[in-house]
Amino acid sequence: MNRTEINELGEFGIIKKIKSKFKKTRKSTILGIGDDSAAVSPSNSLVLLSSDMLIEGIHFDLSYTPLKHLGYKSVIINLSDIYSMNCYPKQIILNIAISNKFSVEAIDEFYEGVKYACEEHKVDLIGGDTTSSLSGLTISCTAIGYSEEDDISKRDEAISEDLICVSGDLGRAYVGLLILQREKNNFLKNPKFQPSLSKYKNLVEKQLRPKARKDIIEFFNSNKIKPNSMIDISDGLSSELFHISNSSNLGFKIFEEKLPISDEVISTSEELNIKYLDAALNGGEEYELLFSLPISVYEKLKLDGIEITPLGHFTESNKKVLVLKDGKEINMESKGWNHF
Ligand code: ADP
Ligand code: MG
Repeated sequence: MNRTEINELGEFGIIKKIKSKFKKTRKSTILGIGDDSAAVSPSNSLVLLSSDMLIEGIHFDLSYTPLKHLGYKSVIINLSDIYSMNCYPKQIILNIAISNKFSVEAIDEFYEGVKYACEEHKVDLIGGDTTSSLSGLTISCTAIGYSEEDDISKRDEAISEDLICVSGDLGRAYVGLLILQREKNNFLKNPKFQPSLSKYKNLVEKQLRPKARKDIIEFFNSNKIKPNSMIDISDGLSSELFHISNSSNLGFKIFEEKLPISDEVISTSEELNIKYLDAALNGGEEYELLFSLPISVYEKLKLDGIEITPLGHFTESNKKVLVLKDGKEINMESKGWNHF
């Protein structure tokens, strides 16, 4: 494959290349890439903003992360933060710091993933910054959405007796990460070793290419409902449950038997010698939505084909309880997934 050095193209060449890939599609985008500042025209009274940084070696490992997937995921994790407010993202700003170990072709690949995410979610890339770094790749992305104060779902408005629900299933992204790390270590020990990931496709895919749950927000909208509280699962179910319950001054009771855990997560956890319950409760990077609704609202929903599972409910007492399959109740600890 061709390799074009970054300095052959220069910073402005790179920006020009990025600009040529992205077209303005949203009405609220007034000015995109090319001036000192982007300009947006909010269609509502609230502007929602959310930012995330991804650092090579901390948040991603390029030995098993294709750049296209990384570009996609960098956008997706930000969009997820806007969706989790019950809002649609409309624009993103994305900054990159790159060392000269990356070629222009590598940057292209990264932006192919960015573009894929933007098109999938109908979001405009309206600006950013491009700079060099001494080592490795750093990405910082900011997503923007517009809403009304009454329409957003926050962490601090869960109500006692609200049903706690989650989209999709749990633990896949974490178990996928462990598989990728295992295969990498095997390869480092024996470079002749050929990683075989096909058996773990669903797990690895959720780690490398998570979905942002736009479909769930569309479902809320089409049913004219709004969750009392909502958060996206970036650090693990238990950690996010603690965020909502602490912000809302409530306790909760959830049931192990209700947790949506796939057979693959269970069998692969066994293979990896970890507890699948740990993966489901503490595994990060799921980007599923965790939210709460009054039971009466939930009961009226037509859920055919919609991946929403009730796990338990919030309580007036501030006890945080997990009821195991055998009926035993344990007090939950917030063992959120953190990088430190
Ligand atoms: P300035 O020096 O005024 O900060 P830049 O040369 O950094 O301007 O950027 C010029 C234009 O290109 C701006 O509109 C900026 O938002 C955009 N831009 C720069 N880097 C990126 C990038 N990585 N992705 C998208 N837009 C970018
Ligand atoms: Mg700049």
